[in-house]
Amino acid sequence: MLEAFTAVESGDADAAASNNFFGARFASRHGLADAAITFDQQSLHFAAPLTVSPDRLEAIDDMLLRWKGQGDSPYFRALQRALVPEPLTAMPPWVVPLTMGLLFVVVLLLVFSALLRWRVKARTRALEHYRRQLEHVLDSSTVVLYQASATLAPFWISPNVVRLFGLSAAELIENAGWESRILEQDRDKRSRIAAELSDADQLAVDYRIIDGHGKTRHLRDEMRVLAARDGHTEVIGTWTDLTSDYEQRERIRFLSNHDRLTRLPNRAFLREQLRTAIAQTDMGGQGGMLLIIDLDRFGAINEAMGMAVGDQLLAALARRILGQLAATDLVARSGNDEFCILMGAADSCETTARLCQGLLERIAVPIQIEDHQLTVTASIGLAHFPAHGRNVSEVMAAAELALQQARKGGGNAWAAYRPELGTVTSERMFLEQDINKALEQDQFELFYQPQYSLTEQRLVGLECLIRWQHPRRGMIMPGAFIPFAEQTGQIRKIDIWVLRKACFQLGQWRDAGLDAPRVSVNLSASEFRSEALAASIAAVIQEFGIAPEQLELEITETTLMEAPDQAAGVMLALDKLGVHLSMDDFGTGYSNLAQLLALPLDQLKIDQSLLANIEHSAQKQSVLKAIIALARALDMELIAEGIETPAQLEFLKHAGCPLGQGYLLGRPLSASQTEQLLRQHCSEVTY
Ligand code: C2E
Ligand code: MG
Ligand code: MG
Repeated sequence: MLEAFTAVESGDADAAASNNFFGARFASRHGLADAAITFDQQSLHFAAPLTVSPDRLEAIDDMLLRWKGQGDSPYFRALQRALVPEPLTAMPPWVVPLTMGLLFVVVLLLVFSALLRWRVKARTRALEHYRRQLEHVLDSSTVVLYQASATLAPFWISPNVVRLFGLSAAELIENAGWESRILEQDRDKRSRIAAELSDADQLAVDYRIIDGHGKTRHLRDEMRVLAARDGHTEVIGTWTDLTSDYEQRERIRFLSNHDRLTRLPNRAFLREQLRTAIAQTDMGGQGGMLLIIDLDRFGAINEAMGMAVGDQLLAALARRILGQLAATDLVARSGNDEFCILMGAADSCETTARLCQGLLERIAVPIQIEDHQLTVTASIGLAHFPAHGRNVSEVMAAAELALQQARKGGGNAWAAYRPELGTVTSERMFLEQDINKALEQDQFELFYQPQYSLTEQRLVGLECLIRWQHPRRGMIMPGAFIPFAEQTGQIRKIDIWVLRKACFQLGQWRDAGLDAPRVSVNLSASEFRSEALAASIAAVIQEFGIAPEQLELEITETTLMEAPDQAAGVMLALDKLGVHLSMDDFGTGYSNLAQLLALPLDQLKIDQSLLANIEHSAQKQSVLKAIIALARALDMELIAEGIETPAQLEFLKHAGCPLGQGYLLGRPLSASQTEQLLRQHCSEVTY
C-alpha cells in the first residue's frame, strides 16, 4: 500500500485508496490529504478516474473479487499490515544515565552561569564604585592627568582640566589644541623633551600656557613613558599649576630687589645691573653713566614734618626723576634719601649738563604734600664707565666722589668725576673687598671699655667696641669702616660677629671663674628693622649659655627716631627675651618724650658731645641736669660717656649721674687686658 502512496507523492498515480487506519497513519507522511470518500469496510473498492474504460474497471472488479477469496492475496496482506501496529523499538540502557548526566551538566551550567552573573554584577558594582572614586579624585585633584602619544599629543585628559585651566579636554585633544596653548617661546622646551623621552623614561619640564580665561599659567609637565600593549610608546603625565609659586617667587624677587616706598629697584639690584653693564663694555658694548642724586638736608624735613611726610616726598621725587628719563634708563633708590640713575653715555658734555641741570630744576620745584608746600634740592655726582671705573665699586666710588664735590658748594649742583678726586676711590674699594676678607680671616677684634658706678666707683659694665687689625694698614677704628659697612649691607655680618664674640668672651670669663659684669653691644640701625633680631639673639645667648640680663644692646637715638614704630616692635621682643636695652648717644637726636616713654628702654647713655666743655657752658649744664632728672623720673639707668676730665667727672657726680664711662676712667681694652682688669676687680680694685 505504501508504494501506492509513494506513487501518488511522486506523481506516478493520481490517487491511492486504503483503509482509514492505514490512511490516517501514513497519508500525512507522504503529504497526502484525505478525500471525503469512504468505502465499505467489508467490501473491496477501488477508485478510478472517469476516463478509465469500463473494460478496465471490470477487470479490476474481477481481480478484487478473486483477491477476496484468497487468504494470501495482496488485499489481505495489505489489510494485515495496516492492522498490525508497527513494533516499538526497545530503548538502549545508556539513554537514561546519559540523559541524567546531561541534565546534571545543564543544571551545573545554569548554576555556574548564575554564579558568574552574580560575580560579574558584584564586580561591576565595585568597578562602578572605584570609577566614581577615581572620578572624584580626578575632579578634585589639583593636578591634571593625561595620556599622550610618543609625540606628546594628548589623547586623554582628566576632566578637571576645565576647572583648573578653564579648557575642555576635547578642545585640547583635537587639532593640537594643547600645543597651541603653550606660549610660543616655550614650545621648543616641550618638543625637546619629546626627543629626550626615548632615553629617559621619566622627565619634567616647566613651561607657560594661556588658559581658557586668557591668563598666563606656569605649569610643570611631568611625564613617564609606558610601553603600550600594541607595541607603541605611550606617555602618561601630569600638569601641575605652579602659577602661585611663580608669582610668590616673583613677588619675593621683586621685594628683594625693590624699595617698598618708591617701588624703584634698590641698591642691590642697581649694583647687579651696573655689573652687567660694565661686563658688556668689556665685550665691546657701549659705555654708560652712573648718576647719584642725593637730597640736600632731607633729614631736616623728616625731623620737622615727620616720617610720613618725608616718605610721601620721597615717593613724589622718585616719580619726578622717572619722568625726566627714558624708559631704558634705570632709576634706583640706593639709600634713604639717595637715588641712582644708570644710563647710556650722553653724546656730548652739553647733553650731560642739560640732563643734570634738568633733574636739579625738576627736583627743586615745590611739592604740595598734605598741607605743606615743600621745596627740596639735590646734589648730583656723575661717573662714566668704563672710563672712571672698571668694576662696580670703582664706578660707584667715582660717582660718590663727584657727589661730594657737588655738595661742597652747598648743594643744588652737579659734578662729574675728575681724576683729581681719585684718592678716596681706592680707599673705598679696598674697604668693601677687605671687609669680606676680614670676616673670613677673623681680622676683627673686640675691645672692652669699662663702665663704672660713679658713686661706688665699682665696675658695672663693659662696652664692646670693634677694632680691625688690618694686615697691611694696622688697627682701623670703627668710624672708618662701620658707616661704609652700613651702606653696603655688610654691617649685618659684622653685628652678628660682634654679638657672638661678646657672648663667647663672657662664657670664657665665666669658665675662668671671673665675675664679669654685663657687656653692651652696639647694633646698627638696620638690625632694629629686622623682626628676626630677637630670635637670632636668643639663639646666640643659648649657644654660649649666657644669661640674657648679662647682655645689653645699644641702639642710637637717631636710629630709634628714624622708624620708632618698627624699632619699638623689635625692642619689645628683645625686652621679653630679658636683655638690657640702652639708648646710645642720647641728646644728639630729637627724641619725642611720648615715644621714649613707650619704649622698653632700660638705660639712657648721654652722648659725649654734651660733656665737652661742660665746665664753661651753663646751657649744657642745665641740659645735663634735665636729662638726669628725666632718667630718674622714668626710672631708667643713666650713663655718661666720654668722661675725659676730672671736672666733667665732678660735675656728673655732683649732678647725680649714677654711671660713667670715658678715657679718664678707663680706655677700651683688649680681651686679655680686660681679663686682668676683671681679676683686679674680683679683688675689689676700682677706677
Ligand atoms: P659709641 O657706641 O658711642 O662708642 C663710644 C665711642 O667713644 C668709642 O669709640 C669709644 O672708644 C669712644 N670713647 C670712649 N670714651 C671716650 C672718651 O673719653 N673720649 C673720646 N673722645 N672718645 C671716647 P669707637 O670705639 O671709635 O667707636 C665709635 C663708634 O663706632 C661707636 O660709638 C659705635 O657707634 C660704633 N661702633 C663701635 N663698635 C661697634 C660695633 O661693634 N658695632 C657697631 N654697629 N658699631 C660699633
Ligand atoms: Mg655705644
Ligand atoms: Mg655713644
